[in-house]
This record gives sequence, structure tokens and C-alpha cells, in this order.
Amino acid sequence: MENQNSCKLLIDLHIKFLRQFLFQAPKNFVFYEYTRPTILFFMISGLDILNALNVLSSEEKLGICDWIYSQQVKLKPENDIEELRKCGFYGSRTSTVKDCDNENLSQLNVGNLAMTYSSLCTLIILGDDLSRVNRINTLKAVKYLQNENGSFLSSVVCGENDMRFVYCAMVICYILNGFSYINIEKTIQFISQSVHYDGGIGLKPNLEAHGGSSFCGIASLFLMDQLETALTSIQMKNLKRWLIFRQQSGFQGRPNKDVDTCYSFWIGATLKIMGMFSYVNWEENKNSILLCQNTITGGFSKCSHTEVDLLHTYFGLYGLSFMNITGLNEMHSALNISMRAYEHLKVLHNLYKTNSYW
Ligand SMILES: [Zn+2]
Repeated sequence: MENQNSCKLLIDLHIKFLRQFLFQAPKNFVFYEYTRPTILFFMISGLDILNALNVLSSEEKLGICDWIYSQQVKLKPENDIEELRKCGFYGSRTSTVKDCDNENLSQLNVGNLAMTYSSLCTLIILGDDLSRVNRINTLKAVKYLQNENGSFLSSVVCGENDMRFVYCAMVICYILNGFSYINIEKTIQFISQSVHYDGGIGLKPNLEAHGGSSFCGIASLFLMDQLETALTSIQMKNLKRWLIFRQQSGFQGRPNKDVDTCYSFWIGATLKIMGMFSYVNWEENKNSILLCQNTITGGFSKCSHTEVDLLHTYFGLYGLSFMNITGLNEMHSALNISMRAYEHLKVLHNLYKTNSYW
């Protein structure tokens, strides 16, 4: 669709675009049924970037929190490792998984690190106090999902195992103050072994470097407070070079690939964490993202000739927030939530530490 007025960020239109997904999703979202907390997270955190959480009433916010808690795995016997591995939050009460070896295997009541991550972030953004989170069992699930090589299995049902779930595990541990539950040394080793020879970080050792996995690796090291020591100075230098060379106008995810709106987040956030964002050409990056803004429906697309979608809307707005655009909240680059939500988390940490609850 031809974009007009593409240089101006149409904040009100994007608020409308995001809010409409809250209670009515498009038909094709049925394929993403098993990732409902992630869809919810994009909507809620997207509204937070736009400083627009006030479009939700208190009742709506409470209703969303109640729904998230209804997806939490109920208490299991604490000494049964196989049961504990299923703890955390799940994605849907109705869906099955069709893309793994055991076709139509049910995901019912089985936690998943990505869904737990999305659920906890959304609760914090909405101002919840996390008092209903089964903290110990959730952290034990993370502990028992860690593999011998330091990576994490996403779930006991059709689990995947790569840098994405290292990041989810690190955010869960950060939010719930639970780094003592995991083997940090092995996690660091997995990340450092995934540094590719061209400088970026792959999803696993010996895989091609990628913007998304580079973010997951570096944000994980930052959250563990290991960014300064985990990689060698040569690895850090090569990584910075690899990241900054991904800017064309906006950013590409890998060498020789087209520019894609979401990499203004994946690469941009990694550069922010590493203190390198001042080397980005802000004007070109901003214009590249705004070219993908739909000025009629709201939302952002992957590139200027494709349809808008929720993921690229979220990461497009996030990428723009790094460039001090009026009307957008300041975001925490590693946690993937606003600084406002991060301040709320800090209050919770102080409260629970003072009460010796955590
Ligand atoms: Zn993309």
C-alpha cells in the first residue's frame, strides 16, 4: 500500500491498531493460539511504548492479569523433577502442537519458557505485584530445563533448544531474583561458544550469526552482569563491527539480507546495551522504519511493500523509541519492557528482599 505522510509517527493510529487486538484477533491468529501470552505481550508492551496504557480500564487490566494467572501451572509435588519441569506459564488451554514428532501432542497444563517470559513481563507492565506467581516452582522449572551444554529446553513438550530460550530463562531469573537456580558458568560458555567466526552470535555453536540471536546472547550476559567479562576483547570488537555493519538504511538481520523493521530493535537494542548506538545513522534508521508505517490502518510492516503485523508493529515502535521520538516511552534495552515498568520491578525487588520473601 502506498504510504503517505510517512515521515510523521501517527501515534493515535497505532494505539487504535494495538488496542483492537485485545479482544478481537484476526482469523489467521488461530495458528498462533498456543502463543497467546506472546500476542498479549506485544499488544500491552506496545501500548506502553506509546505511553497509552490508560486506554485500558482498571477492570480490563485486572481481567488480563487474572487470565495470565489462570494459565499458570498449578502446584506440583516439590520433589518430583519431571513434574517441576512442567511448571511456569503455558500458552493456551485448548491448543495442541502439530509441528513436532508426536503429532497433536497436547500442550495443556505444561509450562513453556517463552510463555512464562511473556506472562511475567506483561504482569509487570500492568503493575501487578507478582504475588500470585509460584516463584519457587517456576525457577525450579528453569533449573531443570537447563541442558548439560548450558542452553535451555523451552518445554518438556516439543521443546526447542537455542539462544532464544537462554534469553527467556535469563529474564525469568532476573525478574524472580533467581540466578542461584541455574548454572551461570555453563550459560556463559554456551553463549561464548555461539559467537560465529564473522563476529555475530548464532542460535547455537557453529550456526550462522543472526541479529535476533546476537540480541538474546548479549542481553542475557547483561542481565547476568557478565557482559564485561564473558567475551574476549577481540570477540567484543568483532561483534561491535558486525552489528554496526548491519545498518543499510534501516537494519538487516544478516549480511546480504534485505532491511527489515524488526532488526531496528534486535540490532539496535544490542548496540544500545553495548553503548554503541551513537554510531547508528538515526535519520536513516528512523526514515526506514517510518516507511513501513501504514497511514490508514496503523501498524508497521516488515518492509514497505508487505502487510502490517503485530510483531513488526511492536519492534518498529521499539526501534523508534531508541531515537528519542516525542510521545514514546523510554525502554529498557535488555529486559524488553519500558523503564517505567522496570522501575516498578525494582520496587517489587526491594519490597520482597526486605520481607525476606524472595
Ligand atoms: Zn522481521
